[in-house]
Parts: sequence; structure tokens; C-alpha cells
Amino acid sequence: MPLELVTIPCLTDNYAYLIRDEATGETALVDVPEAGPVLAELAARGWRLDKIFLTHHHHDHIQGTDALVQATGASVYGAQADAHRLPPLTRALSEGDEVTVGQSLGHVLDVSGHTLGHLAFVFPAAHLAFTADSLMAGGCGRLFEGSPATMWASLSKLAALSAQTLICSGHEYTTANLRFAATIEPENAALADRILQVAAARAAGLPTVPSLLSQELATNPFLRAKLPHVKASLGLAHASDAEVFAEMRARKDRF
Ligand code: ZN
Ligand code: FE
Repeated sequence: MPLELVTIPCLTDNYAYLIRDEATGETALVDVPEAGPVLAELAARGWRLDKIFLTHHHHDHIQGTDALVQATGASVYGAQADAHRLPPLTRALSEGDEVTVGQSLGHVLDVSGHTLGHLAFVFPAAHLAFTADSLMAGGCGRLFEGSPATMWASLSKLAALSAQTLICSGHEYTTANLRFAATIEPENAALADRILQVAAARAAGLPTVPSLLSQELATNPFLRAKLPHVKASLGLAHASDAEVFAEMRARKDRF
């Protein structure tokens, strides 16, 4: 494993992630819901913090940034498109840019939809993708700023990554997401299995993230909007993939 991953629960249902390059000790954090739990994790491990990668402008993903920068001196990376509504950036990023954590290379993807300017950070050699509120475990983020077509295009980029990629998403919403998924595909056996796994994990107080992309492809209805039986179950057998996604997202909003 070229990068060590640590999942840090924050606030009531947010996640931040530490990634550390073993060879150099360089360490980065994805999103800062609050500084306290991150500083505690760094102290417990004896790690420094070098870089902060921000996925999008919502407060629950950035509000600990200033305190963490003051405490660690870390550099801050976030979307050029969101520079006016993010903490001060050391470097502004756009799709196609690259970031590094020690010797590991990460690619920047624009995964707008939940917000416009939402980024994902993909480290292919480590099979890690930080998707925050775009692709989530068993679901996807609500469309606050983007159109359904924009989010569908963003999810399609993520769906095309290696199926062994670990999807590191931003919230513990999996239980409710899968309850909705079961209304779309009541006969999906992989989904039924996952509902049991997630219930067991939550009963044990464990996070349900990260999740494997292969499991998302098999059980996340928002990645499955293009399948004929899913289209048919929504009464949209002849609609486009993006139209089916739009109807599914609208139903989830009302669920
Ligand atoms: Zn958000
Ligand atoms: Fe969020």
C-alpha cells in the first residue's frame, strides 16, 4: 500500500481522511469538518500535516481549516472555481491538475453536481478516490447547485475508475441511502447483502466508509441508472441515462 489511509469521524456524521506516504512521511488531509479530531489523530500517531485538500465549499467540509493551518502550517489546496468561497488557498486546482503526497500522484477531477466546483482526488496507484459529497456510499450528494446531467457526468467519471478503488466519501449516510436503494431494486441480492453488512457495522459503531467501487457499481442505484431493468422499474424504459438519474435523485429527495 503506497499510501496509508486513516478515516476520521467528525461532527455528527462527517468524515475526514488522512493519507500518508510511507517512504517520505508526507501526510495530507482531505476535508476539515473540524480541527480537533484531526489534531488528536496526528498527535496519537506522531505525524505532521503537510497538505490539506478541500473537496467543496460547504461549511461541514472546510470550517476547521483555519485552525488546522494555524496549528500545523499545512498548505491548502482547493478548486479554482471556488477560491472566492474557500479558505485562502496555497494552490488553486482544476480538473486535470495533479497533486502529490510524497511519492504518490493524485489526479484532480471536477465532479460538480452537489456544488459547482466540487473536486475529487484520485490516487490510482493506491486505489483511493476521495469523493466527499459526489459519489457516496450507497448514494450520491443532493443537487444544490448542479443539474442532474452535470451530476450524472460526474458520477460516470468516477464509475470508470478501477473497480478496486476505495471510495472515500464525506458522510455516514449509508443506512438511509441503502433503504432508498431497496425501493429501486428490491430484488438486488448484492444490495440485500450490503444492507446486512452495513447494519452490522453500524451496530458495532464502525464507519461504513470507505467502500469499494465494485460494491457501489453492484448496489448504488445512482450508478445503475443506465441499466434497462432499473429504467423499467422507474417507468422510464425509453428515457436517457441522465433522465433516469434525474428522476431517481428527485425521488430520493422526497424519500
Ligand atoms: Zn456538501
Ligand atoms: Fe457534506
